[in-house]
Amino acid sequence: MKCPFCSHPESSVIDSRTSKDNLSIRRRRVCDECGNRFTTYERVEEAVPLVAKKDGRLEAFDRSKILNGVIKACEKRPVTLNQIEKLVERVEHRVQDSGDKEIKSSQIGQEIMKELHELDQVAYVRFASVYRQFKDINEFMDELKDLIEKDKQKRVKQQQEFRGVLSSEKMGGQGRLF
Ligand SMILES: [Zn+2]
Repeated sequence: MKCPFCSHPESSVIDSRTSKDNLSIRRRRVCDECGNRFTTYERVEEAVPLVAKKDGRLEAFDRSKILNGVIKACEKRPVTLNQIEKLVERVEHRVQDSGDKEIKSSQIGQEIMKELHELDQVAYVRFASVYRQFKDINEFMDELKDLIEKDKQKRVKQQQEFRGVLSSEKMGGQGRLF
């Protein structure tokens, strides 16, 4: 680290402490040449990729934009702000973990939809209708049908599991009889 007084390249660290939020380290240094003291900060580089819009424009990842979109979709739904914040956090982490320099906005939309699908189906449909900008009502109905079908499959599977538990209990009962 170059000394700001005499530009000498070598200095010694005399004190080093972490910031309150644990996101940076503050170091007091003394120049090996002129003896002047100065401070440096070391920060973790947050690798948030740029978002590539549909028309190819790049913009900075905007957490609050996503948060607001999800809050809107969850309006009057039995969803807490805490759940929404966690959801956005997970999406943000996945975006960061991708390690890409650029991420398509559609990819972020997909991640949010996946999350909302698990959280609240009404919120999911609301978000999907805005986000996907369905061309017509039929496209929207197809999406709904898919959703209802998936939900049905989930319920059937649960029923099958339930029956499985029941029948294995019956078997156990028979076992005791013999
Ligand atoms: Zn110096």
